[in-house]
Amino acid sequence: MRKEDCLFCKIVAGEIPSTKVYEDERVLAFEDVSPQMPVHTLIVPKDHYDNIGDGVPDEELGYLFNTVRKVADIKGIAESGYRVIVNTNNDAQQSVHHLHVHVLGGAPMNSGDP
Ligand code: AMP
Repeated sequence: MRKEDCLFCKIVAGEIPSTKVYEDERVLAFEDVSPQMPVHTLIVPKDHYDNIGDGVPDEELGYLFNTVRKVADIKGIAESGYRVIVNTNNDAQQSVHHLHVHVLGGAPMNSGDP
């Protein structure tokens, strides 16, 4: 289900352009517009959930995280390693309130990295 005025719903619908990494009937992965690491890809469910606490079915969460592995393979970071982040609500400074997973990698990370 789509939510009006949601940035990532608009990206899913193709109304706002994105650089696609992977897509199937349930999820879309695209490059973060402001990358914090050499690899910084976002994965979103096509259905709208505000965040991971927004009644997301277990099966949907499993599908989303299985897509992390696909994206890591596509981006060539499965072996070197990567970080997975799901910012949730205000204290975590979630800025786009459509559930999304950050996949970060492509270089060794230091303490100041995301
Ligand atoms: P968060 O702070 O966890 O809500 O992350 C939101 C992410 O969305 C940030 O890393 C932004 O750089 C990214 N972002 C915002 N607008 C776009 C866009 N139009 N296309 C791709 N990524 C975006």
